[in-house]
Parts: sequence; structure tokens; C-alpha cells
Amino acid sequence: MEKDTDSMARAPLRLLLLSTPVGPLGSGLGGGVELTLNVLSQELARRGHTLRLVAPEGSTLGAMAIEQVPGTWQPTAHTQGPQVPIVLPPDSVLAAMWDYGRQVQADYDLLVNLAYDWLPFYLTPFFRRPIAHFVSMGCLSDAMAAAVTTVGERFPGTLGVYTRTQAATFPQPDQFRCLSSAVDLTCYEFCGNPGPELVWLGRISPEKGLEDAVAAAAQSQMPLKILGKLEDQAYWDHICQRYPQAPIEYLGFLPTHQLQAVVRRCRALLMTPRWLEAFGNVAIEALACGVPVIAYRRGGPAEIVQQGKTGWLVEPDHVAGLVDAIARLDQLDRRACRQQAEAEYSLSALGNRFEAWFRDILARYGTDK
Ligand code: UDP
Repeated sequence: MEKDTDSMARAPLRLLLLSTPVGPLGSGLGGGVELTLNVLSQELARRGHTLRLVAPEGSTLGAMAIEQVPGTWQPTAHTQGPQVPIVLPPDSVLAAMWDYGRQVQADYDLLVNLAYDWLPFYLTPFFRRPIAHFVSMGCLSDAMAAAVTTVGERFPGTLGVYTRTQAATFPQPDQFRCLSSAVDLTCYEFCGNPGPELVWLGRISPEKGLEDAVAAAAQSQMPLKILGKLEDQAYWDHICQRYPQAPIEYLGFLPTHQLQAVVRRCRALLMTPRWLEAFGNVAIEALACGVPVIAYRRGGPAEIVQQGKTGWLVEPDHVAGLVDAIARLDQLDRRACRQQAEAEYSLSALGNRFEAWFRDILARYGTDK
């Protein structure tokens, strides 16, 4: 009996991973989900599981084979209001991706949803195979709250999130399993002797609060490098007009290898989210380079940063707190930053958490629900 359980626990899984429909993988439009999908698929493949990735046409993800699905991208959820009805464009790539999933489901043990969208939650009871839903943002709309909660009630154990604070934004936080995130540590080089610059990473969009990082850089007269997808041109133009003298430099959206080459030479990463950041993959990427993180005490970063050791957490929306933290950067140890990334955010730790989650779902729901 024990032997059977053991061999079940080791048997390779056949997994169908369905990506976000807001843009192709590699474009940066998917934000941190792209990194999560990258590290997760890499680690699951290394462990011998069979994977197929489904993503919008034009996607690339290392050497992973991808089922490229044409269609119109989904508008990003964070640009919609809380009461906005569900939107599906004509020729929806999201609908096409899940139609593909429906057709091939019999070839897989489990479907894994990484789209923060209503449709896959709504469709869950209509699928024969179980679906693991990895929810990548906090609760942004009433419609999502209802759809996610219903799945949690009907299929307990199938909802995953990055962090506890993220789960707490939904009506029933206990429905979620916390899975955190990871970085491929071999891709990020430690740097013990940084230059004078600070860095800010992320999608340039109002919920990310870039203007506070720019204001803090201007007040401290510390140069700030900015990297990331320019999602909202008007927002960026407004920042540039408001702080014409700020010592900032925008380097565009860089792939991981180039990104870490810039980040590791910086004194600190600034994270200034206005919204409840679900995780903040950029925080663990910086730590992996030995770069401390100065962040608002809000959402994921508050669960990542070790106060006074690997960064400073400051009162949300207070530029003065950022300026004060910048002045105290010398108290932090860059080695401790890299060590935290190694101890808490390794690929193998992520693989263990996700594998255990998938096996628990399969033990509960079998191959067919
Ligand atoms: N990123 C990147 N190149 C850049 C700037 C950012 O690849 O020039 C990536 C970064 O590595 C991270 C993602 O964009 O994985 C942002 O994810 P995060 O979880 O911080 O925020 P989200 O966009 O999901 O809100």
C-alpha cells in the first residue's frame, strides 16, 4: 500500500499550462506571470513531468514548446474598474486557448490556469479534468471575486496565490494555498560593489506608482535607472513633465540577462506600488543580485523584505520615508540579500510547492472530476 502511494507520488504528471491572454510571453505585457511561468515550467520539466504550454501567438519561453493560439488579446484586468462587467473581445484569444484546452484535456492529468480572467473560472465545472488556478493578482473586481470564490467552494484546494496578503483581498482568504515565487539563481550574478544608482523595475502603469520613486530620486539627488514595459504612455509623459530635473534614465524593457546586468550594479531597488502588489517578482530578482529592496509596506514586498537586513519597508505613499531609507542603505548587507534569494526563492523550493499542490489536487479529484 505504502509502495503504491510512493510510486504515485513520484509518477511524472502530464500538465497543460494555460498562460495569460493579455499578450505574448516574452513581450512583458504579462508582467510577473511571465517569470513565474518560465521558472515553473523549467523546474517541472527538469523533474521529468510532461508539459505543454498554451499561450497567445508570438510567445517565446526559452526552449519550451508552445501551442501558439491566434486571437485578440484580453484587456488587462488592472485597467478595469471594480464594477466593470466581464469583457471578451471578438475573436478572443482567451476563449480560443480554453477551447484548445477543452479539446485536448484527455491527454493531460491536470490543467493549470495562469490567466487572471473570469472565463477559466466560469468554465471549470464544464471541464472533465481538474484545473489548478494560480491567481496572480489581488482581487480587482466583483465579478472576479464571485467567480474565484465559487470555484473555491466547489473545488476546494484548487486555488493558489503568491502571498497571504494577496489572498486576504478575496472574500474567502482561506480558500487559497500560498505558493510564493522563485528565480533561476544561475541567471542573476551577485555584485558586492555597486555604483551610485538606484533602480526601479516594472510595467510603467499608474498602479505601480513610479512617480514616487522619481520624486524620491529627485529629492535625494540619486540617479535612478528605470526598466520596464511602457504600458501607459500618457502616464509616463506626465511623470517626465512633473519632474523635468529628476536624475532619471529610462532603458526600456530588457530581457532577464540584460536586466540583471543593470540591476546588480545598483545600490537598491525602489518598489512604490499604489495597489496591493500580489508579489513583486522584481524584488526577488534584485535580491538574487545582492541588491537591497526599499518598498512600501503593502502587499507582497512586505512579506519578502527582511526589515533592516535585506531592505527597508516604509509607510505606503510617503516619499519622505523612501528618502530616509535611501540615506540608510549602508546599514544593509548585500550578501544577506543574495542569501535570502538562495534560501527562500530557489527553483527547487518552488517545484516542491507546486508539485505537492498538483498531487493534492489529483489525489482529491482524480484524473476526472
Ligand atoms: N521585467 C523585465 N524586463 C524589464 C523590466 C521588468 O523582464 O525591463 C520583468 C521582471 O523581471 C518581472 C516582471 O517584469 O518578472 C514584473 O513582474 P512583477 O511581479 O514585479 O509585477 P507585475 O507586472 O506582475 O505587476
